[in-house]
This record gives sequence, structure tokens and C-alpha cells, in this order.
Amino acid sequence: MNSLSRRKFLKITGAAVGAAAAGTTILKAGGSATSKGSATGIRRVPTYCDICFWKCGTIGYVRDGVLWKVEGNPLDPLSKGRLCPRGTGGIGAHFDPDRLRAPLMRKKNRGEEEWVEVTWDEALNFIADKLQRIKIAYGPEAVALFSHGIGGNFIKHTMKAYGTPNISAPSFAQCRGPRDVGFRLTFGEDVSSPERTDIRNAQCIVLVGSHLGENMHNTQVQEFAEAIGKGASIIVVDPRFSIAASKAKYYLPIKPGTDLALILAWMHVIVREELYDRDYIGKYAFGFEQFAAHIQQFTPEWAYPETGIEPEIIRTTAREMARYRPATLVHPGRHVTWYGDDTQRSRALALLNALLGSWGRKGGFYYPVSMDVPAYPYPPYPKPKREMVDNPNRKYPFAHETITTGIREATLTGQPYPVKGWLVYATNLLHALPNEQETVKAIQKLDLLVVIDVVPSEIAGWADVVLPESVYLERFDDLNVEWFREPFVAIRQPVVDAPYEQKPNWWIARKLAENLGLGHFYPWSDIEEYFKTRLSAVGLSYEELKTRGIILGPKQPNYFHEGVPPQFPTPSGKIEFYSRQLAQAGFDPVPMYKRPATGPPGYYRMLYGRAPVHSFSRTHSNPILSDMMDENEVWVNPVTARRHALKKDQYVRLRNQDGIVSNRIKVKITERIRPDCVYVVHGFGHTARGLRHAFGKGASDAQLITQYATDPLMGGTAMNVNFVTFELQET
Ligand code: SF4
Repeated sequence: MNSLSRRKFLKITGAAVGAAAAGTTILKAGGSATSKGSATGIRRVPTYCDICFWKCGTIGYVRDGVLWKVEGNPLDPLSKGRLCPRGTGGIGAHFDPDRLRAPLMRKKNRGEEEWVEVTWDEALNFIADKLQRIKIAYGPEAVALFSHGIGGNFIKHTMKAYGTPNISAPSFAQCRGPRDVGFRLTFGEDVSSPERTDIRNAQCIVLVGSHLGENMHNTQVQEFAEAIGKGASIIVVDPRFSIAASKAKYYLPIKPGTDLALILAWMHVIVREELYDRDYIGKYAFGFEQFAAHIQQFTPEWAYPETGIEPEIIRTTAREMARYRPATLVHPGRHVTWYGDDTQRSRALALLNALLGSWGRKGGFYYPVSMDVPAYPYPPYPKPKREMVDNPNRKYPFAHETITTGIREATLTGQPYPVKGWLVYATNLLHALPNEQETVKAIQKLDLLVVIDVVPSEIAGWADVVLPESVYLERFDDLNVEWFREPFVAIRQPVVDAPYEQKPNWWIARKLAENLGLGHFYPWSDIEEYFKTRLSAVGLSYEELKTRGIILGPKQPNYFHEGVPPQFPTPSGKIEFYSRQLAQAGFDPVPMYKRPATGPPGYYRMLYGRAPVHSFSRTHSNPILSDMMDENEVWVNPVTARRHALKKDQYVRLRNQDGIVSNRIKVKITERIRPDCVYVVHGFGHTARGLRHAFGKGASDAQLITQYATDPLMGGTAMNVNFVTFELQET
């Protein structure tokens, strides 16, 4: 990896950012008044990034008392000394002129975004009082926490101490959940996060709907660039010619919604031509004969009319995968809530990897390891009297995390019991959950909505109380003890002070616990004592961690050939080609394909994805990142453009199948997208008035996602089931 040039890395990301230039921009935009301190010279503070959840090791630099720039920490195995474009623009979060400054309480009706600034004591007393009232009237289970990222660990702790089991994150039911369930059903283990994908050693990489490089997870993109540099064969399946597709040997522009048909046909070819890893299957497979019999029907000729991919291309690409096995990695993806059959599609990807023998093998999926840093020895939490509210009677039998939309449903219906309070930490639920009207209706049933965030997002606009968190460069957060190739522990620590009244999550969570009479759940006197207690339990030095930002553990085996025992914690103890647990629960024991529904005439399937300079909907007021991209475009094929008389760069509005009309959005006419779909980058089209810069720029995919299909196995909400057409009144 060290031989990978910066230029090559940026070429893969599809974007570039210069740290020094960015720093200049930001100081003009935000002013240096937000950084306290009068020291001269340059100070260097290791920490880890929070512009997304990947947690790359970072060095923050302060010059003459003012935050200057961030770089990757060369000691860190996630960043390897290089940040991604948005991480490099991370200092913009500190200088963001629209960030929250002080606690706010709602003045009038919910959603009107009219506030009065209050003190922290006033805000926390109000919240604690409301929480106590809810507990007395409905029980502690009537409060739910929605949280995203490691910053939420302390507020989770407070809410567990309060007594609720209803703690959730959109990252399960709106993102990676189907993948983790599909792989767990097959191998007995999740793909985990960061994904255990051995991209750097893969000789063939297959991306099905994954746009690495635009979807910017730093380590993966660096490894992808390294693999390309070493000549890996890349196969990309996507209705849109992504940046990753531009690196591919084979690009398969599939009809949207038909990926499972292609995967089944690939497996048919590999089984029929006996290209699979016989030895591996012989040792580790359960139910292979039933699987092989099932797969016979899915010929490339059968798949052709479904997918639009010619039989010979299906055969050629299947043989290409087999040629490099077991160093062929069929990437499991991450945001995989697409069509409602997502767990079965993910399971099919897992089975394809199993045929190629890639699980536990170099160039496939490694076994992650972790540093053995114990949790803080807190007192035991009270045992909730009621089960979690999100999945009554195990309606979704294979969900192993809390379903956000299940909590929303319970809030709306009062079943299986009422939910009256929501705490929302660092997730803009109106952009993260499908059907924002359902979310708004649920909010109207609440006695209390508290939002903790760094910017006044759309969900903050509906809150009763908004608590301003300091940004990651201004705060301590929990230790990062990641499962990865090599064991390590990393620290997030303040590089500069928070400029106004913002506080770190650990401080907010602890104060709230004290106001709730739960102060004994925080026996440490300050956060540094918390770190020291955990680290000293395994003989690690807090001072060393502060100085280096990271402590690495000794190398451990990652592959079967290095001594990892090939164990599969499934019911059979083997890789489950045939799943008896699925059959017993009434589901297909081997994946089956169902043709996706089509939209109304004149409408196009709306696909959405990521840009390398933004994270979800949370970075659009960061002046550095918005300088690189401050609105999204709708990608339209020239055939579609002609049909609707669309012109390049013209502004239109998108109307979905339910009559919902978006903000205006610029048209990008390109052959890089199929004529039966359009594409937008997620997270734009802000309607929160406090986001002054981002307000009204681009269209919100979330607004247009009024329909969703629920995955019957685990409750994930598939969102690629919406269709849009164009309204041309804008010029
Ligand atoms: S991937 Fe980029 S934004 Fe995410 S943590 Fe790493 S550097 Fe930061």
C-alpha cells in the first residue's frame, strides 16, 4: 500500500481536495474567532475522524491557536496516513457557520423551527423531568434512542441505565442489515464493519451495485486502488456506469432489480461447469446437493431476459471469477436495502463466495481480530420488564438488531405498547428513514423529542429540545476498539475547544444521567479516568495512546492457512448452502428470484447513491465540502432526455408515483445510466431553515421515497422501489 501514490488514490475517489487550499477557504468563510487559544506555532494532536463512521486515524494541526488542517495518522491501519476527500475537509465542521451553538427549546409548534436559547441546566432539567413522567406513566421502555456512530455510546449507556431496551440505528434496517443476515445465515457470521473484505489481496473483485470510490470508505478505496494497480480483474454490475465501472474489465449494465437472477445464473455456470472449489465444498458445505439441484434451472439463457445481460457474458464473467478463486472477492456491499428480497440476494452473494472458496482465504474474506480492551465495569443495568418494541412476536425472525421503522410503527400505533419519547443522536431520521410523512406522524404522537447533533438538521426542526454537540475535533469520544485485520485501540481527543456552548456527548449523557438520579452509573470522575481504567486493565498506557493516537496489538492469524480454525457457527456447523432454519421459518432455503415490479408509464426507477465528498445528509453545511459539491444532479439517459425534452443543466422537479414533488434539481444527460432509471446522490434538498447554505439546493431522494418494501426475513426497508418523472416548469 505504501507504494500507492496519492494521485492514484484520488483518481479512484473521483474527487480531489487540497488541504492547504481548503484551510484558506475555511478561515475566510468561518473566521478564526471560533478557535480559542493564543498559542503561537504548530501543535499536532492525533485523533480519529467522524465525518463518516469509518473512524480513520487523523492528525489535527493547530497553527497559532487556530485549527489549521487534518491529515491521516500514518500509524493507523484504517487511514494508513491518508484521509479521504471528505475527511480532509473535516475542519470545515469546526468552522461551519450554521452549526448549533447553544441548547434550544421549541417556542411554538413542532416543525416550525422557532426556538429560544436556554442554558444546559434548563434543557437537561426539562428533558429529565419529561423522561421521569414518561417512565411513571408508561414505563422506561416507552422511550427509544436512535443513534448513529461511536459518539452515541455514552447516551446509549444512559438510556440503558434509565431502563429502555429500545436502542436502534438506521444502519441496520435501512442499510447493511440484509447483508449481515444473509451472510450470517450462510457462514454463521456477519461481514462486520469495517467489512472483512481482503480487497488488497484479491485478484478478481466483483461489485454488484457497490460504487467504491463514490461510496467513500477510505480503507476499502485505498485497497481497491492497490488491487487495480496490481492488475486485479474487476467486474462491475450496475445500471449506472460508476467510477468503479470505469476501472472494470467487465461492466454489466443490469436491469435494476434483477441482480439476484444474475447471481443465480453465475452460480449455475460455476456448478454446471464444475468450476467451484471442490475440496473446500467437500470439507465445509452443508446441503450442497440440494443447492446444486435447485440451481440447475437458472441458466444464463433464463437470466438474459430478466437481467438484460447476454448469456455469453454471464458465462465469461463466471469463468473469470472461478479462474482467480479463492482470491476472488464478490463484495457484499453495504447499503443493500434495495428491492425487498435483499437478505436472499445477500445470501446468494454469500453462496457465490462460498462456491469460490473465498471465506477465510487470502483475497476473499479475512477473519478480523480485535484488541482485548474490556468494557468499563459499570453497575448492571436494570432489566427491562418488556421486550423490545420494534419486532413484536418476532415478525421478522432473523432480525438481530433493533428495527428503527419498527419503533416508528409502534410509536404510530401504540402497539405492542406505547412509545412516547425519542432521543435522536447524530442521525437525521427524516433523511434516513423511508416515507418521511410516517416519521412526522409518529413524532406528533410523542411527549418528548430530543435531538443531539452538530447542525440544525431536518429532524432537529421537529424537536422539543435540541442539544448542540461539539464536533469531533473538539471532543473526546469512546475508545475505538475495532475488529479489523490487526488489533488496535484508537482515541478521539480534542484538537481545539468548542467555540460556543457545544458539549461532548459523554458530558451530555452523564449530566442527563445525574439529572435522572442515575449518577451512580458514571462512577468515573472525568472521561480521562474512564479511559485509564479500561486501558490499564490490559496494561496499556493512556499517555502513549494520547501521544500516538493509536496502539497496535501483535499480528494475529487472519486466514485458514495461517491457523484460523475453519468454524462456521451455523446450526449445521458448516456453510449452509441449504438452510433448514429458513425452511422451518417458511422461507426459501435456497434463494429464489422474483421479478421486480415496474413503475407507471413515463416514470423511471429512482436509484440513489453516495458522493465522495459528503456523508449522508450531514455534511452539506460544511463549507469546504459544499464548496466541492453543493447540489446534486439527476442523471438521465439521452433517450429519456429526448422523450421529455430535457436539456443539459436545466432545472426540473421530480414527481414520484405518489405525486410528491421535489425541490428543483439540475439535469445531467449521460450515457452512463440506463434509460429505465435515473440516479441522484443521496442527502441533498435540505428543507431545514437553519441550514442556510444547504437549504433548497438539489432534490431530496428521501422526500421521494414514499414507498418501501419490507424484507420479510429481517424487517429491512427496501427503497429502490420508487419511480419518478419530470416537471419542467423551472428554467
Ligand atoms: S472514510 Fe473519510 S470521512 Fe470516513 S472516517 Fe475515513 S477519512 Fe473520515
